[in-house]
This record gives sequence, structure tokens and C-alpha cells, in this order.
Amino acid sequence: MLSRARNGEKGLRFSENTPGALGALQLEINHLLDQIDQKYEAWYVPQEAAKMFDILPFELVIVDPELKYRYINPTAIKNEEVRNWLIGKTDFDYCQFRNKDISIAEARQKKFTDAIAKGTRTRMYEMMVDTQGVEHHYVRSIDPHFDADGKLLMLIGSSFSINDLKAKEQELIASNDQLTKTKDELDQFVYRASHDLRSPLVSIMGLINLIRMENPSEKVLEYLSMVDRSIYKLDSFIREIVNHSKNSRQEIDLELIDPKQEIDAAMAELNYLLEGRNINVEVDVNSTFPWVSDRFRSQIVLKNLISNALKYQRKSAVNRLVKIRVDIKADQSQIIVEDNGIGIPSEFQDDVFKMFFRATNQSFGAGIGLYIVKEALNRIEGSIELESTLSEGSRFTAVIPNYRLPLVSK
Ligand code: ADP
Repeated sequence: MLSRARNGEKGLRFSENTPGALGALQLEINHLLDQIDQKYEAWYVPQEAAKMFDILPFELVIVDPELKYRYINPTAIKNEEVRNWLIGKTDFDYCQFRNKDISIAEARQKKFTDAIAKGTRTRMYEMMVDTQGVEHHYVRSIDPHFDADGKLLMLIGSSFSINDLKAKEQELIASNDQLTKTKDELDQFVYRASHDLRSPLVSIMGLINLIRMENPSEKVLEYLSMVDRSIYKLDSFIREIVNHSKNSRQEIDLELIDPKQEIDAAMAELNYLLEGRNINVEVDVNSTFPWVSDRFRSQIVLKNLISNALKYQRKSAVNRLVKIRVDIKADQSQIIVEDNGIGIPSEFQDDVFKMFFRATNQSFGAGIGLYIVKEALNRIEGSIELESTLSEGSRFTAVIPNYRLPLVSK
């Protein structure tokens, strides 16, 4: 009787239980049919090649122009029975058999047809869930092969498991989330702590003024001035930390800035650095265009550069000079602060923007002003350059993008 054999997927076969000569003939025919099938498969993958493909550590399959599997290596499908069963079948048969979503077969077929249309390798990412519910991640490549006349012969599919990479990616995402959380908490802590530290300082300043009103002796007055200086140092340090924390947390807020007003505000705050020091300050503002930028960060840049130019003057100099020049151009604003002060030795010029770096023991501060300037400029996509000659003076040039143009060109 002619029927589908047990592995009838190969084709029609006689059942193998007919007795006598007829049975022997039927067995012989079955055997011949098997040989024909094997020859057909062998056309795709010669025995020698199949032996090599079988031991490859990555998944390899060969698909015919009808998108039916012609070869599957054991890395792709471990179970030999399933592997043999799938020969001559498509991904749709496989999805049905494995009870998998039909969209997997659709996506693969789409990639096969893409590769055929393009005539070159196509890649795809695929995630499969196994019977235990474990996710497996793959990168699959499909290479179409054509004969000399451009007729499609076969498609070779190869896949790599990227489970390890995926696991590492998950670990990275988790540790990155943790880092962001810790950084936010640290920022919050620094911000709160610095704020809370300032209020007792302000009380101490008030108390010092009260002591001064009690007609203290010369000696006490001298001590009070020393306390004053230390408190001032501590207060500036705390303000700088608050600024740093605000710079990293606060969103960029673009607004129209009046350069003259900003320079006046900075000078008013830094007036104490001018008192009795005979410093000539020249201000030159050229604003043909409106200046649109982040005010808080622009103010950090202006104030720190001016403050340094005033602070680092030569003790012996008679014609102390600080030049502040602001040029507002169409696409960028330039802030140039120049002094004829002590200058910075060339070997330290790259370091002055680093945290806590001081190039001189004449320094008043903690060495974080220029670090914050650089950080603030980074946030608003600006840059800064320094030219300086020891004992002659320094010139800082900060460039900040002027956000006017993109707004106008819309
Ligand atoms: P500080 O609080 O010490 O002023 P900054 O970060 O603002 O910290 O500056 C770092 C160092 O760079 C200073 O300690 C000083 O040595 C040097 N510096 C900065 N600006 C000038 C300047 N205009 N002239 C000379 N040296 C400067």
C-alpha cells in the first residue's frame, strides 16, 4: 500500500509490512526514493561540506529559492529528529510545529526577500523565548547566492547568540541607573549641605560686626579681620559648590541677556576686590546682535574671570589694568577678560581649569572657580582659551554660542 511513511515529510513511501516478493520490491522502491531525496539534499550541501558545517559553533542553515530549509546544522537545532523534519519546510511550518508566534516566520521571510532583492547580506536581530520561558537573543545574517546568470541558488543563514552581550547590556543599564541615582542623591546632598552651612556663617558675620561695635582693642580688631578673611574664604567656597551643583542640575534656560547689566552686576559683587587697590577697569561692549543664552551660566563665566583678573594683580605694579570686552556676534558671544597681573607659568596653563588646582600660593580661593567656568561652558556648548605670560598678565577668551540665529531662521 502506498502511503506517507512515518517520516513521510520526505515524500510518498510504501508501508514496510507487505509480505513476500511484493514487499521486497516496495522496500527496494522506498530505498531508491530515499537515495533520490539524499541526492537532492546533496546538491545543496555535499557530504564533505555538511560534515564541516555540522561542527560549526554558530548556527548555519541553507534555504532554497522557495524559502524551504535544505540544511540545518546541529548548533541551530539540537534535536536530530526535528532537524530532519524541518528539511523541505518553511519557517511557517516551524512556527506552527513549535507553537510560536507567526510574526517570527513573517519577519524572517521578509529578511529573506530583502536579501534576495538587495542581492547582498542582510542582518536581523531576533529574540526567541524557549519552552522554559528563557529569552535568547540572536543576530542573524542572510547571504543570497546566485549563479552566473543571476538566478538565485540558495540563501545561507548564519546566527550568533548575543545572550552574553545582552546580559552585559542589562548589567550596564542597571549600573548606569544606579550611578545616575547616586549622582542625583550626591548632588542633592551637596546642595542641601552647602545651603545649610551658609546660615550659621551669616550669623557669625553678624556677631563679628556686633563685637566690632563694642570698641574692642587693636589686637582684637586684628584678630577679627583674620576671622573675617577666613569666613569670607569659607563663604566663597560654599557659594562655588552651590554654583557647581546648580550648574549640573539646573536645566538650560535661554533668555535675552544685557551684557552691560551683567558686567555691572558682577562688578558690584566684586567691588571689595577694588577697594584701595588702584586697579583701572576698562569695559568695552559691542553688541550689534541681541545676546540669547543661559544667564546663570554666563554670569558664572563673567564673574569668575573678572574676579581672577582683579585678584591676581602684581603687588608691585603701579598701572594695574583689567580689560573686559564682550562682543555679541550673530552666532556667538565672546567674553575676553585681560589683566596685566602675575600671569600663569606655561607649565600650569592646562591645569588651571582642573578641580582644586592653584597655580600660585597668592591664591585666595579653593581653586575651583575656573573648573566651574569650564563646566558651565560645557553645559552651554561654549569653550575657553587662555593666553598668559608670567609676570606680564593673562587673557581668557570664552566663546558662548548665541542662540539667536536658530530662533530667527525658523
Ligand atoms: P582660585 O579660587 O584659586 O582663584 P581658580 O580656579 O579661579 O581658583 O583659578 C585657578 C588658579 O589659576 C588660581 O589659583 C591661579 O593660580 C590661576 N589664575 C586664574 N586666573 C588667573 C589670572 N587672571 N592671573 C593669574 N593667575 C590666575
